Amino acid sequence: MEKREMLYEGKAKRVYATDRSDQLLVSYKDDATAFNGLKKGQIAGKGAINNRMTNFLMKKLEQQGIPTHLVEEVSDTDTLVKRVTIVPLEVIVRNIAAGSLSKRLGLPEGTPMGHTVLEYCYKDDALGDPMVNEYHIAAMGWASEEEMRLIADYALRINDFLRSYLKDLGVDLIDFKLEFGRLMDGTIVLADEISPDTCRFWDSKTGEKLDKDRFRRDLGGVEDAYREMMKRLMGA
Ligand code: 5GP
Repeated sequence: MEKREMLYEGKAKRVYATDRSDQLLVSYKDDATAFNGLKKGQIAGKGAINNRMTNFLMKKLEQQGIPTHLVEEVSDTDTLVKRVTIVPLEVIVRNIAAGSLSKRLGLPEGTPMGHTVLEYCYKDDALGDPMVNEYHIAAMGWASEEEMRLIADYALRINDFLRSYLKDLGVDLIDFKLEFGRLMDGTIVLADEISPDTCRFWDSKTGEKLDKDRFRRDLGGVEDAYREMMKRLMGA
């Protein structure tokens, strides 16, 4: 595989073309941003941790019958993935109230909810990723109703698997964000990443935050939290 020109630079990753027309190289950065880019910093070792953790979890999900964009990890920070067109939605899965839901509904963080909640946000930085519902998604043609049924089914299955897998490691999965893409033939696959950047992980015993909220909220111990999650999942 040969790395070619950079196609896209995001906040946490760069994406490169390769000599294979249907595969791209994703390179994870240590750069961290929050509040739609207002807060900027670096988290040492984050690129490698997020890359390796994402691939570890995507392999587990593939074994559960969830298709993903993963092809193969090529280095600590770089992974070959299938080329997709991203469905322009952030799919948010919530088990316990936290973050923007807590703010919006006036629920203290940590409040249990009777049911898992799915939310969708339209991916648009200039608009601040506004929340939308299935009617907006259908009306704007961002995804078909059939695609949305599949996406919701995958998101809930991913949640069931991750929640119980992490529980055994002493971690509560509070909420997380997923992105899906379409392969050339239209197949919907899980894309992007699953990492402390995109999930809320709380220690089951102490409630300690083991995710990007430590960076967003200036809680300190950011690198240690990412390393701790890596250790619990992958033992190193
Ligand atoms: P909230 O809506 O409470 O800010 O976020 C809910 C969950 O989705 C959190 O686990 C958060 O990490 C993730 N999330 C939501 N939007 C984004 C985003 O734009 N970038 C990242 N990295 N994670 C997000």
